[in-house]
Amino acid sequence: MKPYPADRLRNVVLLSHGGAGKTTLTEALLLRSGAIDRLGSVAEGNTVSDYDEEEIRRQISVSTSVVPCEWEGHKINLLDTPGYADFVGEVRGASRVADGAVVVVDAVAGVEVGTELVWGYADEHDLPRLVWINKLDRENADFAAALEQLSERFAATVVPIHIPIGAEADFKGVVDLVSMQSSLGEADESGDVPDELADRAKAYRQELMEAAAEADDELMLKYLDGADLEPTEISAGLKAGLANGNVVLVLCGSAQQAVGARQLLDAIVTYLPAASTSRVSGTNPATGMTETLSPEPDAPLAALVFKTFADPYVGNLSYFRVYSGSLASDSRALNSRANEEERIGQVFYLRGKEQTKAEAIRTGDIGAVPKLQHTATGDTLCDRDHPILLPEISFQPPVYSVAISPKTKTDLDKMGGALERLLEEDPTLRVRREPDTGETLLSGMGDSHIEIAGRRLHSKFGVEIATKLPKIPYRETIRQSSEAEGKYKKQSGGRGQYGIVQLRLEPRPRGEGFEFVDEIFGGAIPKNYIPAVQKGLEEALGTGVLAGYPVTDLRAVLYDGKYHTVDSSELAFKIAASLGFKAAMEKADPVLLEPIVNVTITVPESATGDVLGDLNTKRAKVQGMDQAGGTAVITAQAPLAEIQRYATDLRSITQGRGFFTMEFSHYEEVPPHIADSIAAGDKRAEGEKE
Ligand code: GDP
Repeated sequence: MKPYPADRLRNVVLLSHGGAGKTTLTEALLLRSGAIDRLGSVAEGNTVSDYDEEEIRRQISVSTSVVPCEWEGHKINLLDTPGYADFVGEVRGASRVADGAVVVVDAVAGVEVGTELVWGYADEHDLPRLVWINKLDRENADFAAALEQLSERFAATVVPIHIPIGAEADFKGVVDLVSMQSSLGEADESGDVPDELADRAKAYRQELMEAAAEADDELMLKYLDGADLEPTEISAGLKAGLANGNVVLVLCGSAQQAVGARQLLDAIVTYLPAASTSRVSGTNPATGMTETLSPEPDAPLAALVFKTFADPYVGNLSYFRVYSGSLASDSRALNSRANEEERIGQVFYLRGKEQTKAEAIRTGDIGAVPKLQHTATGDTLCDRDHPILLPEISFQPPVYSVAISPKTKTDLDKMGGALERLLEEDPTLRVRREPDTGETLLSGMGDSHIEIAGRRLHSKFGVEIATKLPKIPYRETIRQSSEAEGKYKKQSGGRGQYGIVQLRLEPRPRGEGFEFVDEIFGGAIPKNYIPAVQKGLEEALGTGVLAGYPVTDLRAVLYDGKYHTVDSSELAFKIAASLGFKAAMEKADPVLLEPIVNVTITVPESATGDVLGDLNTKRAKVQGMDQAGGTAVITAQAPLAEIQRYATDLRSITQGRGFFTMEFSHYEEVPPHIADSIAAGDKRAEGEKE
């Protein structure tokens, strides 16, 4: 593929609720632009954009693919994104580097929950957008209903520039409302507007002219005078309306039959912004000043890595978009976040899973470079002499965790390295060790996300893992002060053991941890044994008397004791301290503590009742609720034990329309009836182990 100047480049993200037809539409656009000569099919797993093993197995996209097509002297980089909430990281990365969006809506299902979600992402980045109403060939397809829903749900003026000819099995083609020409069938034969559609087309055209006129005072005057606007005037007005977010243009067709696809290519080139119009600013890490980048090919390099693909054979492949300058093969670039220079080998253009060699990827364009050493998704590659840091891509923190363990010894050896690679590929995955339970936790956006991560570990890195529900890191504490003696004494034959401690335990406020106080006066225990007592206590804190969880939030005061000049030892005092601690804790009204998390839940207003009802069964305390624009934001605190699987629960309560964030807040006492069953459960688990 030859290089294109930025004014002839369009970076377009395809967004939709899962299954609306993005991958099929990508195929249709490739076919129409002449890049392929027959349509691949999602069912047969031979499309250009779904190439990942997991995508073919599940017949859904789990990852963004970059698919360029050339049209009328332009290059369109299509970014085909996954439509399923678990893979939102991919959608965010792609939306960030696009200059415009095509939102695909299923004409049978209409505006769906995922449509609203992706609309939000496009809003976040102020992306001018086209809507493609798809599947008009299907039974129950309803163009007018989908159009009405779009107008109702979204603030912009939503106007069609095409309307369908025929419907369902009779769907034949589209009428172009700007040129007032029709185009029929796969062959795209053009003709006049069919008589039966003449009135409807006129009415829609009127709306279109009004939307165009609103963008420009002069056009408005002409329109109000009752004059017909020229097609070029309509286009210019619409383009301005799209750019400022006031207007959204609707097209339609059947991706599967590639009907309407040529018109979409035209509309992308005509209405969506060229890469040369993007104005991105970054921070100069040396001065801290904000700088706006100009999309000039000869300016210093600035490129954003928006996706990393872990390849088991060639190493990581970093996908990037150039905002300024160009990234050439066999060059060097500075990673300004890591402050490390990267050696750039061969750079590539992408086309789904294929890569073609390029001399350089120039400003505005998208490409990939393998084997970067220090670079992760979200990093900026730039010129060493002109360092710049583009804003990172914001990813939501993970909300769903499993405990993982390697299946075999070989898996154990390889697991760490493989996880590291997987994390570089997917910034919405996290791995950490939970110190209280000793488990390794893998966290992500939902169960499918984690399941696919596990499969990838296997297929890409040959590592097999077992997953299970993480243990809750409970803790134990005391509610009363108590005193006890710890005595360790063995004095029969040879050198004996002797140490006696008198201890007092006192509760401390939540979150204050453990404190040791030495109140020994007059040498009841010699100074050199005191550290052994403290050590014995700290070790004993590791296993509480209720269910064996770590003990916290208390003070242990050593106020008296006895020693023996010959038989006392550090070991004896350590053991005595630990015995004394257990005895005192038994008497101190011990109680189990559980982690409480803050959750912020965003759902459609209509789901509020169901969500609150469910929270009620999860021992959650609702702390606030805000409603605006059809959306409710609920804040609550809930025990982690109840909310570990909330990603799955919330999806089923809201049919995928809700999302939430979660962060640790504090520890609280477990209610007695629940504490009993936790302790009993743990004893049972102990029994199974033996
Ligand atoms: P994506 O998840 O948005 O990428 O959607 P896909 O492209 O994978 O399409 C989902 C399903 O809808 C597949 O089975 C497609 O064959 C089917 N499909 C897509 N476009 C059309 C269309 O225009 N007409 C019909 N009848 N089916 C379609």
